[in-house]
Amino acid sequence: MSPRSGKLRGGIDLGGTKIQTAVVGARGAVKGEERRPTPTEGGPEEVAAAMIEAMSEAARSAGVEPGDLAGVGVGSPGDADERTGVVSAAKNLPGWSGAFPLADQLSAKFGVPVKVGNDVQVAVNAEFGLGAGKPYDTVLGVWWGTGVGGGLILAGKPWLGRGAAAEIGHMVIKLGGARCTCGRRGCMEAYAGRLAMELKAREEVKKGKKTKLFELMEEHGRDRLTSGIWARAIKQDDKLAIHLIDRAIRALGAGIASAVNLLDPEAIVLGGGLGERFGETHLDELRKRMHPHLFVDDDPPPLEVAALGDLGGAIGASLLVR
Ligand SMILES: [Zn+2]
Repeated sequence: MSPRSGKLRGGIDLGGTKIQTAVVGARGAVKGEERRPTPTEGGPEEVAAAMIEAMSEAARSAGVEPGDLAGVGVGSPGDADERTGVVSAAKNLPGWSGAFPLADQLSAKFGVPVKVGNDVQVAVNAEFGLGAGKPYDTVLGVWWGTGVGGGLILAGKPWLGRGAAAEIGHMVIKLGGARCTCGRRGCMEAYAGRLAMELKAREEVKKGKKTKLFELMEEHGRDRLTSGIWARAIKQDDKLAIHLIDRAIRALGAGIASAVNLLDPEAIVLGGGLGERFGETHLDELRKRMHPHLFVDDDPPPLEVAALGDLGGAIGASLLVR
């Protein structure tokens, strides 16, 4: 092990579509990185193998071996147990409905300690330590993407509750409301999650509504309505896209304002695919939609857009390594 590699850590952002890895030095500096698609077939073993390859490749590009790292952190979807390193019910990963000892598996291969954490929480930790949340002590992260995830930092420390805290997407904003992808009704995610919005758009098309959304999707070789496709449709003045984004932002306004009433955080950081895309153009709109629901409405907390971009998840994962 070379003396200068002593402080390097590995970070793996395990997503439903891609695996992003990074080798991270002091103050979050990225020394090497690699990205590859998440396997769509097989099970946890196949996904773990792809993670090992991607991490090893990032290490090579940083001029080290995985065994030289101080450790590796993983931001994982599903139920990621920080204490045991077991990941279960990662439903958007292939064949991963049960429990899998991910940390042990990776650690045996890399020969260094491996820690797992919730994907959104680690991304919020990264924004808190190094990005948009840096000036604050208490931060609520809202990750607006396929679903709507959350992460909470209270008085400088991540708040995990008993392991399931900050699931802001499943705050109920309408009793008996729209069916959520979680199976319940009226959750914020049922209106604002990318997947729920796509299902709603398909439903509206079936009822005869016109939209360019699915044309654009095909034109750009996508198999789902990505944040980029939504943005393009809105640019082209697509009525249905405009309506559904507005509906999403109204839902986010109600849900985030309710969370502010409970927590009164110093700042809210908006991240995720849709969050980063529409944070640029729709932040004022979101502020406006929060306002009527704020109990104390004359001094709302600042709303910031995540600053670390695509590598935020992997950088945050690396911070799990102590
Ligand atoms: Zn739900």
